[in-house]
Amino acid sequence: MSEQIQLPIKDTAVVFPNRCVCCGAAKQAQSRMVLNKLVTRGQRQEPVNLKLEIPHCIRCARGTKAVFLAGCIPFVLGLLLAGLITFGLVTFQGWKWRLDEMGKNGNANSLVLGAAAGLFVGLLGGFLFEVIARVLLLPIMGRALLDAPLLAIQFLKDSDYVAGMSGKLSADGTQVCLTFNNSEIAREFRELNGV
Ligand SMILES: [Zn+2]
Repeated sequence: MSEQIQLPIKDTAVVFPNRCVCCGAAKQAQSRMVLNKLVTRGQRQEPVNLKLEIPHCIRCARGTKAVFLAGCIPFVLGLLLAGLITFGLVTFQGWKWRLDEMGKNGNANSLVLGAAAGLFVGLLGGFLFEVIARVLLLPIMGRALLDAPLLAIQFLKDSDYVAGMSGKLSADGTQVCLTFNNSEIAREFRELNGV
């Protein structure tokens, strides 16, 4: 059963048990978790970022990389393909409709419209490609793939995932919320960090 632990972000490092957070085997490698978020402080938006080195065994570290690539490659392909095609079509239509002749001289209305449409459809395309890749790869990669959230969702939720756990920054950027799939590791983590 997965367990959530909320931790204030301090100068002192977060301490992890000396074994794989996923399967509990001896630590042989590390996987990096990167959390970014834009936080509103007063009038300004400030970026908050946190990097955590998560202990893994070799197998789970490799699994983390494979799952990331299995999501990232189709996502980027879908984004580029759907995005560029939409960008081309919409910009061309805009040019045909003489959008650029509206308003001031030298306007690039059709380009702006094309870029906005391209980005939107591109994100949808990336999402779709990732879902298709996941269905195709599921028989090969199995559970590790099912446990990982889709990249588009991680992107929207500002969260990051490595085998065995996921992380997310709180809305005000002062706390980090870590979700452990392995409750035994979660208990050790609590003890080590005095939570
Ligand atoms: Zn492991």
